[in-house]
Amino acid sequence: MSNSIKTVNPFNNEQLKEYNFHTSEQLTQLVKGSEKAFHQWRQTSIKERCRLLNNIAQILEDDKEDLAKLITLEMGKPLSQSLSEIEKCTTLCDFYATNAEDFLADELIETEASESFVSYDPLGTILAVMPWNYPFWQVFRFAIPTLTAGNTAILKHASNVTGCALAIENIFERAGYPQGCFSAIIADHQAVEKLIADDTIKAVTLTGSEKAGKAIAATAGKHLKKTVLELGGNNACIILDDADLEKYMDTIVNARMQNAGQSCIAAKRFIVTASIYDEFLKQFKAKVSGLKSGDPLNNETTIGTLARTDLGDILKKQIDNSVAMGATVISGNKQDQAYFEPTILINITPDMPVFREETFGPVAPIMKVKNAEEAFKMASDTRFGLGTMVFTQSIETAQNHIDAIEDGAYFVNELVKSDARLPFGGTKASGYGRELSREGIHEFVNRKTVYIN
Ligand code: NAP
Repeated sequence: MSNSIKTVNPFNNEQLKEYNFHTSEQLTQLVKGSEKAFHQWRQTSIKERCRLLNNIAQILEDDKEDLAKLITLEMGKPLSQSLSEIEKCTTLCDFYATNAEDFLADELIETEASESFVSYDPLGTILAVMPWNYPFWQVFRFAIPTLTAGNTAILKHASNVTGCALAIENIFERAGYPQGCFSAIIADHQAVEKLIADDTIKAVTLTGSEKAGKAIAATAGKHLKKTVLELGGNNACIILDDADLEKYMDTIVNARMQNAGQSCIAAKRFIVTASIYDEFLKQFKAKVSGLKSGDPLNNETTIGTLARTDLGDILKKQIDNSVAMGATVISGNKQDQAYFEPTILINITPDMPVFREETFGPVAPIMKVKNAEEAFKMASDTRFGLGTMVFTQSIETAQNHIDAIEDGAYFVNELVKSDARLPFGGTKASGYGRELSREGIHEFVNRKTVYIN
């Protein structure tokens, strides 16, 4: 077995760098360092922790061109989208710098005691296992609230974005965090399993596939450690008869095609009512055909490559199997190494892989249904529970379905997106726990009840 990771630019298959795995001795030292840092860091005032967030925001702002380029080189998203990702991380730092003190303040609760309240104490070292699709954002949305709550963090990033992992570690160092507060490890799955068993690790968070979620949660469960799981999704995008297509078509196409479709919360099933179906298809197809492929470092490029060539093979299989079951490809479906042409399929039935499974790429299955009731019924026919979006001019119709949505999010006339101010997370096979907002900073704390008689 190899003892190193080679990162590759998916656009041209050229090797970027090679990184050696940390040895078990190095991992032991890193874990010890993280534990040591925790004892110092938890004593640091929240004001000071927030001040360091401003330093991070400044570094992100100063270095955003270089950081965006690194993202694009390692995983193939267009440079403009990488820049937006870095800018979103800056907004996140600003949000917690402004609100963390309030979120972490003791919460008084009146009882018959002379004083009773909840205090929010950090837990210790938290292990984060993260994916490559938003290599900065996924790490930041975990690390910023978790560190600001007084914890330390160890990151095991997806191997194809190891350069991003080390760049993030470097940002925390330069921002003035005590050594060991945030460490990136270069490790395989076995080493992660061992790490979860280590007493220093108090909890684990994973953003990734259902398969990885089950493996990590099983190990963590064995050692009685809390997990937060942000897993896959199969979000429905419902288009009702009265949807304002002129106004929202860019949003709808973006909901599927941004990041070349490699987003957990992307619109993965389009469910369209009968009388708007033809017009929707015409406009959707026209917009998708306007996407520009090419070198993701080129400013003109609006659709990049997939992050790895093998990811296209999975998509191809899902499409081929759906076509064998009666689906029709009306555009796209060409694969050239890591590039996968945006693909639209019609004549979709609920048993097809493109409807049942998560498609992690630029593939849009479009299902025609009779009316709104059938649309919502189809939308909820999934094992996943990240989000549902609906486009309609009747806010009342959209509101009437709020209670029936079982997902972590429901967006009306907007694509499902994460926002520092709002909780983010899933239900069912999409995982559990919440990130961002007040909820996110309370995931890795001891909510301690204090009662003074
Ligand atoms: P993945 O294969 O599950 O990998 C995610 C991370 O988990 C990587 O760091 C990977 O390391 C690690 N990993 C996988 N199996 C592991 C194991 N048994 N033990 C320890 N670590 C393990 O997922 P991906 O292909 O990178 O990302 C795509 C998936 O993530 C999709 O299903 C997507 O929907 C989901 N996702 C969910 C969210 C959300 O917020 N809900 C956000 C983004 C993505 P290696 O790289 O070394 O294999």
